[in-house]
Amino acid sequence: MYTEFWDCHMHSSFSSDSTAPMEEMIRRAIRLGLRGICFTEHYDPDYPETPDHLDFSPDFASYRSTLYALRETWGQKIRILYGVELGLQPHLAGTFSSLIRKEPFDFVIGSSHVMDHADPYYPDFFEGKEEKAVYRRYFETELACLQAFSGFDVYGHLDYILRYGPRKNADFRYADHAEVLDALLTELIRRGIGLELNTGGFHYGLEQPNPCEEILARYRKLGGEIITLGADAHAPDRIAYSFDRAKNVLLRCGFRYFTVFTQRTPTFYLIEP
Ligand SMILES: [Zn+2]
Ligand SMILES: [Zn+2]
Repeated sequence: MYTEFWDCHMHSSFSSDSTAPMEEMIRRAIRLGLRGICFTEHYDPDYPETPDHLDFSPDFASYRSTLYALRETWGQKIRILYGVELGLQPHLAGTFSSLIRKEPFDFVIGSSHVMDHADPYYPDFFEGKEEKAVYRRYFETELACLQAFSGFDVYGHLDYILRYGPRKNADFRYADHAEVLDALLTELIRRGIGLELNTGGFHYGLEQPNPCEEILARYRKLGGEIITLGADAHAPDRIAYSFDRAKNVLLRCGFRYFTVFTQRTPTFYLIEP
């Protein structure tokens, strides 16, 4: 049971890479004993053409009305929040600004799924490229995204790229990328934007969340305090995945609180040691 936690990153069939009915996600979260959840459906405009032809442009009116109706049904048992995961690219600032002005989101995650017009999720992405150079380019792209647009609450899975490299995180060292990562973390803190601890990395066999403990510890050391927690579930059985491990990571990094955003405002919850 996870009675102290919220899972603030999940998808349902309103995202084109999930077939999970929203209500099933909610039922599972209640069974797990979570205090609350936030749906964060994908919005990735200008997503590249891929073998599975995904279109990450949800019908927000339908997404919102479905969520509000389910909140009427289940809201006594669990808090249900309305969020979005924006697929950042530097040229999309205007598109995102107008969306967040229009939609009454509780929580907005900014994530980098696309770099140089391709998603590293697909195996040919790394062909003919040096892994370390790709990682550096990915972090530089995140910095460019942040400088172009900062209207979101946390940066999602900051080292997402490590899931897909030929050797994943085996050769990743913070020190090899310290200059760009320090710049990125400092800029997040200066703009009051948090980091997400995404437990997907455990599922992908990294033995680490995304971002990894080294990055989380550095963010804390530089003064960062805003950490949200999400499993990035696309199906009910992945909700709150490895949250026990996540909690230990946060405590080791020196965090005493995790954060939940409602109506774009942070609330801090004590992590019970
Ligand atoms: Zn994502
Ligand atoms: Zn996601």
